Parts: sequence; C-alpha cells; structure tokens
Amino acid sequence: MAIQRTFSILKPDATERNITGAINALIEKAGLRIVAQKRIHMTRGQAETFYAVHKERPFFGELVDFMTSGPVVVQVLEGDNAIAKYRDVMGATDPSKAADGTIRKLHAKSIGENSVHGSDAPETAAIEIAQFFAGNEIVG
Ligand code: ATP
Ligand code: MG
Repeated sequence: MAIQRTFSILKPDATERNITGAINALIEKAGLRIVAQKRIHMTRGQAETFYAVHKERPFFGELVDFMTSGPVVVQVLEGDNAIAKYRDVMGATDPSKAADGTIRKLHAKSIGENSVHGSDAPETAAIEIAQFFAGNEIVG
C-alpha cells in the first residue's frame, strides 16, 4: 500500500482534558508519523468551512459551537494507507460503538465530543490539509 497523508484534529474535549499526548502516543503506536502539527483556536468561519458537508444536518450548529469552544490541535499524519489506518485507530463516531483500544473507545465523551477527526478519502484529505497548512509547514 502506498504512503498517504491524512488530516487529523484533536478536538476541544481532548485539549480541555490535557490528553493530546496520550492520543499522539496511540497515533504513533499505530505506525503513523505526525509530520505537521499546530495548536489553534478555530474561528466559526473556519469550522463552518471545514464541516460544510454537514451544514444541513440537525447537529451542525452544535458541531460548530463545539469545535470553536476551545483550542484544537490540527495535524498531518503520514504512513502506509494512512487514511484508512487512522479511521481504524480513531474508532466509530459514536464511542459506545467503537472497538476496544481505539482512541474514541478510550477517550471520547459522546458522539459529538468524540476527541478526534480524520479525513475519510484522499480528496477530502488534500482539501482539509490545504485549509490549515502551507506546504512548507509539513515536514516528512
Ligand atoms: P469526523 O468527520 O469528525 O472525523 P466522522 O467521520 O466519524 O467524524 P461524521 O459523520 O463525518 O463522523 O460527523 C462529523 C462530526 O459531527 C462527528 O465527529 C461528531 O463530532 C459530529 N456528529 C456526528 N453525528 C452527530 C450526532 N448525531 N450528534 C452530534 N454530533 C454529531
Ligand atoms: Mg467525517
């Protein structure tokens, strides 16, 4: 399988509980390399753009409120089959359905406050990475 890059966010419930290092340890243990990382406070505009695909969903307002409620850590992860691999490491959106050992099973608080985001396809990964990182901020 080819080396890929995926976009990750450690969400406000993770920064609030000071568990970003614990999550990064799970990411690295899975063989993914953190090739870019920064801590930011998303604006509403950034969050609305990022989650535009969900703008008709009933939870959109709640999702934007949550993503702007505190700092997040945005990351680029690199590795073999990184997009699918990170989705596996994250676990299901709803932590009560997530497999044992996954980030969401171990750390997520609820279906909304679920600790991490990971891109779902190569096209979305490229768009999401470009929203938050310049090329020279990614060092593989
Ligand atoms: P992400 O896109 O954050 O990686 P995902 O792909 O597992 O998560 P999506 O269906 O894309 O899940 O939903 C995006 C985010 O919207 C979820 O991670 C979660 O924070 C929030 N969300 C999804 N479903 C609900 C819901 N029913 N109620 C509240 N928030 C939700
Ligand atoms: Mg998604």
